[in-house]
Amino acid sequence: MSIESERREPLLSVDGLSVTFTGRSSLFGRADPLVAVSNVSFEIGRGETLGLVGESGSGKSTTGRGILGLVPASFGSVHLDGVEITGLGRRELRDQRRNMQMVFQDPYSSLDPSSPIGESIAEPLIVHESMSRDDAQRRVAELLERVGLTANHRQRYPYEFSGGQRQRVAIARAIALNPKLVVCDEAVSALDVSTQNQVINLLEELRTDFGIAYLFIAHDLAVVRHISDRVAVMYLGRIVEIGPTTRIFDDPKHPYTEALLSASPIPHPRRQRERSRILLPGDLPDPRRPPSGCTFRTRCAHAMDVCAEVEPGPVQVAGGGEVRCHLHGPGTPTETPVSVGGVA
Ligand code: SF4
Repeated sequence: MSIESERREPLLSVDGLSVTFTGRSSLFGRADPLVAVSNVSFEIGRGETLGLVGESGSGKSTTGRGILGLVPASFGSVHLDGVEITGLGRRELRDQRRNMQMVFQDPYSSLDPSSPIGESIAEPLIVHESMSRDDAQRRVAELLERVGLTANHRQRYPYEFSGGQRQRVAIARAIALNPKLVVCDEAVSALDVSTQNQVINLLEELRTDFGIAYLFIAHDLAVVRHISDRVAVMYLGRIVEIGPTTRIFDDPKHPYTEALLSASPIPHPRRQRERSRILLPGDLPDPRRPPSGCTFRTRCAHAMDVCAEVEPGPVQVAGGGEVRCHLHGPGTPTETPVSVGGVA
């Protein structure tokens, strides 16, 4: 269980979630299993936004999919509003989907390109609420107006919309059943900055109006900083740091968080000039063969002998949240670090 105990009555509890993809057999034998998400724990309160950041391949999207049951969990549990999601059968999972929805980077993931958008938005209302077609179309009109479009858009096809409008349609579909949780997976990444801002403002309005909680997966740290109450940082399938947004951005504890933040521009010219960029050597290791101990050690400028031997556990941080790094905690080792990274 996460030691983030300051949150009361969480809406979502993720406890030790792991997602493993088994290797395919080939002429050369069976590939090693790939642990895409390993022992991930966190909570999200009602109406709260948790940002989830990390490099491409860090396991962010698979975590979102694992929570929604779109990929099976190999270990751990996910509870939404007291109901365990992991292990539900197909039908029960479909019933629970009304409470948890996903908005993807590519709206075509949830919109049928060959159907008018009114039909795509009406589908969950007809399937889950047994609404008549007329009632569903009336509700679709309300939803479209709520996301800044009009009832007249119902008859149009996805290709007739701009990228920002299409994302508004996808959001209308996602909120049709009044979900408690929406997982936004790079939902604004493909949009230009001005459209990004409009869609983010819309997500924030919906949160205020309907109390929706978000797991906001993104690689753009400026966007995450703007929208998130708390931020979790993932590396090679593990959460290495989590905490309140202000603490994470102003006082990051994990060397990986520091490196990620150093690569993101800050809207303050003097602080931007004074800041050094931390360059991480090498690429993300092969998740089929992760390094022993701390999986970040092969790229960490502070790596010590203990880092290769012991996987760091969670340690609470002043200012909120927790970090998994041997540099922190009561038994902080004092070995001389081996330099494998650098600053520029
Ligand atoms: Fe670096 Fe060691 Fe901390 Fe991992 S545990 S981030 S290798 S100092």
